[in-house]
Amino acid sequence: VSRKLRLLIVEDESHLAAGLKLNFSLEDYEVDIAETGREAARLLASPTRYAAIILDVMLPDLDGFALCRRLRSAGNYTPVIMLTARDSSEDRVEGLEAGADDYLVKPFHLDELLARVRSQIRRADWDQRRGGPSSDHEVIRFGRAVIDMSTLEAQVAGQAVHLTRLEFDLIRYLAMNAGRVVSRKELLEKVWKLRNYPNTRTVDNFIARLRRHFEPEAAKPIHFVSVRGAGYKFVPDANDA
Ligand code: CA
Repeated sequence: VSRKLRLLIVEDESHLAAGLKLNFSLEDYEVDIAETGREAARLLASPTRYAAIILDVMLPDLDGFALCRRLRSAGNYTPVIMLTARDSSEDRVEGLEAGADDYLVKPFHLDELLARVRSQIRRADWDQRRGGPSSDHEVIRFGRAVIDMSTLEAQVAGQAVHLTRLEFDLIRYLAMNAGRVVSRKELLEKVWKLRNYPNTRTVDNFIARLRRHFEPEAAKPIHFVSVRGAGYKFVPDANDA
């Protein structure tokens, strides 16, 4: 029985895809290659389980962002490491908003990609283990929401809610700092890992999404509260506001 981990490399530059396949095979991974977004979508819809996906942003048909969003909205949380030709914060943010776990700019060092893939697989594995019966669960509760950080499952009034990895990380960070005003800059640094990123609108977009999921009335937030000119304050119990 093969115990090898299987990777999917989505990359339309054949020579780069072949080089990556060779190097990952030498590291004892099984590797499938898709040269188009559609081919990737077909493989991802098959019963094959991938330990991680290396996803080029620029593809001839469906782009990497769209493919990643589609995957996440289908409830597939396989770690995704995105590759892009451009080193721009906008791309990084778009990748993370699409649900990618990590992001690497071309040209990159092979060692760095290997390390990132290993680290994402370890993290996914660790998340699964933490969800095991003997482990301690980290559960965040507020209002009618129950968010299990160890299994990455969220519910509102018993109904499952699908969140991206970044949305879980954002809730976790806010919950760790409950009752304290957290600035957009701090959130970009601590949750998005972006330093000196000028556009704080992305934080507002994510908070708006959390409100739609978790506030009794999205327009009158009682948990993800805006503090004018300062940032956001997470209030688990509305009576404490
Ligand atoms: Ca490409």
